[in-house]
Amino acid sequence: MKRVAIFGSTGSIGASTLQVIRENPADFRAVTLVAGKNIEKLISQIEEFAPENVYITSEENAARISALYPYLRVYCGARGMEEISQRTDFDIAVSALVGVAGLSPTYNMIKNGKTVALANKEVLVAGGELVMNTAKQSGAVLLTVDSEHSAIMQCLRGESENPIDKILLTASGGPFFDKEITDDVTAAEALDHPTWSMGPKVTIDSSTMMNKGFEIIEAKWLFGVEASKIEVVVHRKSLVHSMVQFADGTIMASIGPKSMQIPISYALSYPKRLKNNIEKLDLFDIYDLRFEKPDMNKFPCLRLAYRAIEEGHSAQVVLNAANEVMVAAFLEGRVKYTDIPRGIEKMMDFFPARTLGDVAAILEFDREVREKTLEFIP
Ligand code: NDP
Repeated sequence: MKRVAIFGSTGSIGASTLQVIRENPADFRAVTLVAGKNIEKLISQIEEFAPENVYITSEENAARISALYPYLRVYCGARGMEEISQRTDFDIAVSALVGVAGLSPTYNMIKNGKTVALANKEVLVAGGELVMNTAKQSGAVLLTVDSEHSAIMQCLRGESENPIDKILLTASGGPFFDKEITDDVTAAEALDHPTWSMGPKVTIDSSTMMNKGFEIIEAKWLFGVEASKIEVVVHRKSLVHSMVQFADGTIMASIGPKSMQIPISYALSYPKRLKNNIEKLDLFDIYDLRFEKPDMNKFPCLRLAYRAIEEGHSAQVVLNAANEVMVAAFLEGRVKYTDIPRGIEKMMDFFPARTLGDVAAILEFDREVREKTLEFIP
């Protein structure tokens, strides 16, 4: 029985993780649940999964949970996040907070040599080198639950003797791949993802293709491959989850149903595969597996991600922080959809490269970029 900690239990990845646990009660137990604001959902999760430790951001909500469940260890605030992420009473943690908020807790777990299944790609965008070096030193195991990276991880099993020629990172293309992007794109239109149901921030990132830019950075760190060897391939059906090409021209692909439960359960039970109730693919129904090139002019966020990769670590922190601020402002109706890449590019032009040696320096710089980005918003 594996003891599982879920950072982001009330989110989309959190819900899929709990579904895997619900369907496999003999294999997993949810011992730690970390939520942000959604107290009602957290309470229903406490009722169903009887965890030992919970986190919720506000002190008021934490007090309400403590009163309801006096036997629970309840954490809140910045200090509480530090403390709960330093606990070691779990076998595997699913890191599924959204944005740079996940960096510090994930780093703590990696530093403590724990096994982490990473969904929160912004952790590697903002702190890839630090996280990977720390994992090497501590012996922590870093698995991935991002569907594309899980696919790559699976294509690479048994291939340690064979260098990667190219990673073919698939992208759905989002809701605007075949449509015009105008200034008056609404949040509802941008949130209408054609193939995946996800949290709001990643769905917007998917529509701008910033998500794919982040995933290139994520793949670079996870698999130790230069970005020049990672090619984005638009595949509208999201059935081929990604591919790896080797020196002899062989391409290994991972193909399967569209469900985040599959990469999550693979990471939780790695390297074993678990049965599930998800409908299997009928290959005779798939008459067309089409692959297309993304248009960098139409999707400037993807171009900006490539630029940040070229410019180095601090540019990637700028990319991530400015993107978080612009996406939040767009969802709140304060900026236009097309302002998202404009704001990010302005910040990338503004901030010269700098060295960021530890989590504190990264987070301090992240704060600085956020403040500056807010000045761009009317
Ligand atoms: P959601 O917005 O659905 O969920 C985010 C979770 O994090 C919620 O539980 C939220 O709590 C919690 N949270 C956010 N900020 C804080 C904070 N400061 N302190 C404590 N808890 C916090 O996001 P997703 O599940 O969609 O995505 C999570 C991560 O996984 C993202 O990095 C995304 O890019 C990545 N990812 C997601 C995929 C998907 O299919 N959804 C696929 C691949 C990667 P609350 O809701 O209670 O406020």
